[in-house]
Amino acid sequence: MLIVGGAIVGSSVATFLARREDWHGRIVVVERDPSYRTSSTTLSAASIRLQFSTELNIEISRFGIGLIKHLDDWLGVPGGPPLNIDFVEGGYLFLASAAGRQILEHNHAIQRAHDVPVALLSPEELHTRFPWMETGDLAGGS
Ligand SMILES: Cc1cc2nc3c(=O)[nH]c(=O)nc-3n(C[C@H](O)[C@H](O)[C@H](O)COP(=O)(O)OP(=O)(O)OC[C@H]3O[C@@H](n4cnc5c(N)ncnc54)[C@H](O)[C@@H]3O)c2cc1C
Repeated sequence: MLIVGGAIVGSSVATFLARREDWHGRIVVVERDPSYRTSSTTLSAASIRLQFSTELNIEISRFGIGLIKHLDDWLGVPGGPPLNIDFVEGGYLFLASAAGRQILEHNHAIQRAHDVPVALLSPEELHTRFPWMETGDLAGGS
């Protein structure tokens, strides 16, 4: 198996493929910049969320959160120092104008159906929780 690009997706595919008991082949990851200086992975804001509009995306992200929370179980070296990446669950806030309110509600229903701990907030509730935010042109938040 040849994987081109060794950032988060390439490395994840290689790692999880190698862990499979039914995988017996070789895996080679080719990366043109091993410093990862310009990869999206390095440049990302490193945030993770569950507010998606499909079950698949929610479950992929839920798996990722579990992996990050139990990183030692996945990537720890026996006898090595504990892996600490200072994971902070800050949460995401999606905002909608009147035009986007329906989509926000639709996605919220999907998220709740899959046990995502998310709240649908009115402009008044947004103002109460985030008094610094201008909410006059908003129809809701998630
Ligand atoms: C500014 C910014 C902020 C973001 N914030 C978030 C966030 O907060 N949360 C989130 O979940 N996502 C975020 N993303 C998206 C996330 O970073 C990407 O979806 C993810 O990193 C993509 O990973 P990847 O491995 O597919 O690609 P990349 O990280 O871009 O890696 C691709 C790798 O392939 C290598 N490569 C490319 N072509 C070749 C070739 N021909 N030969 C050899 N190697 C090659 C590159 O050098 C690179 O290392 C953000 C993205 C950006 C740009």
